[in-house]
Amino acid sequence: MNKKNHEIPEWAFEFHGHRCPAMPLGYLAGMYAMQLLGVEKEKDTNTFVFSETGDEHHQGCFDDGVQIATGCTYGKGNYKRLQYGKIAIVLYKPGKGAVRVKPKPEILDSCSTFEFFKYRKSGIPASQVPREVADEVIGYVLSKDFEELFTYEFVKNFEFSPEKKTMLRIKCDDCGEPTYENYIKIFNGKKLCPRCYEIERGRRK
Ligand SMILES: [Zn+2]
Ligand SMILES: [Zn+2]
Repeated sequence: MNKKNHEIPEWAFEFHGHRCPAMPLGYLAGMYAMQLLGVEKEKDTNTFVFSETGDEHHQGCFDDGVQIATGCTYGKGNYKRLQYGKIAIVLYKPGKGAVRVKPKPEILDSCSTFEFFKYRKSGIPASQVPREVADEVIGYVLSKDFEELFTYEFVKNFEFSPEKKTMLRIKCDDCGEPTYENYIKIFNGKKLCPRCYEIERGRRK
């Protein structure tokens, strides 16, 4: 068994739902990016992660690990998937700068040689892979130093201005459901939620 350089909190696996190597890899990428930028885990929404993963490939589990580590989350709106189909993140905090962290290709390749992926390729979901098989590849990831796992670069002149968020809800004139004002659409003088707007527009045709 390899020495362990890092610990992943057990609640991270509970939140994620199963034991796989991509979530811990994301967790460590997030920790490393925070260390490089000199920032703490984000409690609110003043730090941002731009993840280069996409919706249509495996290893999106990486994003859960990054969110757990950085506190930049999909729900708070400071976590964006760029749909590039790559495993890399940019961590950005205004005033602190931006850093891009990516796993080394050889790390991704050597993870793929573990038995865990034989199970996955034969269609077995990660939660059904025997614990010791999953923990073998997770142990491999955790045995490596940040420098062995990742490369990084500081991104110069990185700029991003978040959307202004609203607290004001308006009742849709059709369904009566409260809808945030910036999502309301006007149709025939009515204020509509996007769903009722689509229905009304369909009737018109
Ligand atoms: Zn996973
Ligand atoms: Zn409506």
